[in-house]
Amino acid sequence: MDDFDDLLAANREYADSFTLSGFDGVAHAGVAIVTCMDSRIDPLRMVGLAPGDAKIFRNPGGRVTPQALEALVLGVHLLNVERILVVPHTRCAMASSTEAELHARVGASAGQDASWQPFHVVLDQAAALAEDVAKVRSHPLIPDTVKVGGFLYDVDSGLLDRQL
Ligand SMILES: [Zn+2]
Repeated sequence: MDDFDDLLAANREYADSFTLSGFDGVAHAGVAIVTCMDSRIDPLRMVGLAPGDAKIFRNPGGRVTPQALEALVLGVHLLNVERILVVPHTRCAMASSTEAELHARVGASAGQDASWQPFHVVLDQAAALAEDVAKVRSHPLIPDTVKVGGFLYDVDSGLLDRQL
């Protein structure tokens, strides 16, 4: 039962200085970010924001999936989102591996066949970003007043480079 004790201890310290009690949960800076699950990415701090400021949706590769679109539509209509950043990154495993390579690596780790598990690798990161930004911009429930940008995050410099 102690698998999470270190994290729960840290959480009690966090709660001691917690300041978001009763917070409404809207995006106070009007920002939503779709980005990768990569642990090198700090999506709020990389654009000068803090908890309470933005809606964050993460998945492997930072792709605009149907679930990401659900989140963005809710964000735009119910949670104050006015600007959307789609942010894949350099040296992303999802963009530098083939589906077969990931199946082989996961299969080796799991000690069993993993070929039935889709990973949706990105074969062309620039093309995928263009497609993802277009999906957001053309979504019938996301109005033209919402600004949508496509950026590449450099995990070695910390810089965002606007692509679209
Ligand atoms: Zn990644």
